[in-house]
Amino acid sequence: MNWQRGLSIILRLHINHAKRRNSPRLAVRTYTMESSKHPEVKRVLVTGASGYVATGIVNDLLNKGYLVRGTVRSLKNPGKVKPLKSMAEGKPGKLELVEADLMKPETWKSAVSGCSHVLHTASPFPFVQPKNAEEVIRPAVDGTISVLEACKQDGNIKRVVVTSSIAAVGMNHTTKPLNENDWSDPSHGGAEAEPYCISKLMAEKAAFEYVEKLSDKDKFEICTVLPGYVIGPTLTDQVSTSLDIIKRVMVGGDLMVPDVSFTFVDIRDVVDAHVQCMTSPKAPGERYLIVDKILGYSEVCKILSDEFYPQGYSIYTRIAPRFLISLMSLFDNTAKTMNIIWGVICEYDNTKLKTELGIKPRDTRKGVVDMAYSLIDNGYIEKKAQYKGRSSDKQ
Ligand code: NAP
Repeated sequence: MNWQRGLSIILRLHINHAKRRNSPRLAVRTYTMESSKHPEVKRVLVTGASGYVATGIVNDLLNKGYLVRGTVRSLKNPGKVKPLKSMAEGKPGKLELVEADLMKPETWKSAVSGCSHVLHTASPFPFVQPKNAEEVIRPAVDGTISVLEACKQDGNIKRVVVTSSIAAVGMNHTTKPLNENDWSDPSHGGAEAEPYCISKLMAEKAAFEYVEKLSDKDKFEICTVLPGYVIGPTLTDQVSTSLDIIKRVMVGGDLMVPDVSFTFVDIRDVVDAHVQCMTSPKAPGERYLIVDKILGYSEVCKILSDEFYPQGYSIYTRIAPRFLISLMSLFDNTAKTMNIIWGVICEYDNTKLKTELGIKPRDTRKGVVDMAYSLIDNGYIEKKAQYKGRSSDKQ
């Protein structure tokens, strides 16, 4: 090799090397649909699909490419059906809606048919507790059993995730941090005032007991998700208790607020937990507390006031005197509940959520604000003249 040829080879190598270093790397990113990572999930049934929590779940499943069947009580109710249909448009997953009612056991056979997984969120969650507790308890308990019975009869369901609540853990109001080994004690004084809490406790217990008693041939996997008070953006304009409570604050519904605290969690964490529990190998037989921070009601009002007072919303933050609530509790069911939980701070341990499901709870303070913005933007709360919306730096 003469020296010119040697030099030209060295130069070419040098130039190619420089070209490789300088040319931008081809962004070859492969997107794998979450659904294709879980071929065992053929179709997911989401019960009570039009609810606040369920619309979040349905939206996430559709984004991840799953085939989803949602149940609503009536397909003729446009308020429930329309938001779900518009949500499904242009998503990689597919949504179909069917009718099913927790009080009509015969409706669940066809609802579960063709599904492999069930996320059972449907349950009455009333803002004001009914005088007759059975109105809440029966649909929750008997309805859950009807769904599970249909799964057994069908024989193709692999796993059911039941949405329970911290109410099934913390109704006895102890102060130690409660965890998934704790169960509410319905003999506590609060029980009579809270049919909802009893309904969640009884439904969760009944679900585990039902599957426990199944023969090996009929058995399917079950696990439960126990959210705290869910906050965060809503994808629907439909009435729901979580939304009503924040709405009540935003419209200045109470001149003074009770000294009560709640354990909050962001809806996006609740959605993640349901979807993870559907496929996680660790989940079968388990309960998962989905909780983040404890916030006083007055703190929530303060967070909202800081953000929305300059935008025209009068939000009251002063704590009411106890005697007033005690007095009101004689004739008002909501005041009765507030009176029972007055000053009680119930702590929950979210270690299992973080270590087993790998979910680091989002900032609930931001969730409260996000929720209020979504309520205004969805027309659930009046848009005041001074309303500016979220400034982009806060998104
Ligand atoms: P939601 O918006 O009121 O949704 C409840 C859903 O259940 C609705 O779709 C409702 O259908 C359905 N449902 C009620 N009774 C029914 C019946 N007889 N037959 C069929 N469906 C029925 O409440 P959410 O906040 O999304 O609650 C969803 C689940 O999360 C519930 O199990 C609730 O206990 C649990 N949870 C919620 C929170 C929270 O803070 N939001 C906290 C812990 C646990 P309709 O729309 O037709 O009424």
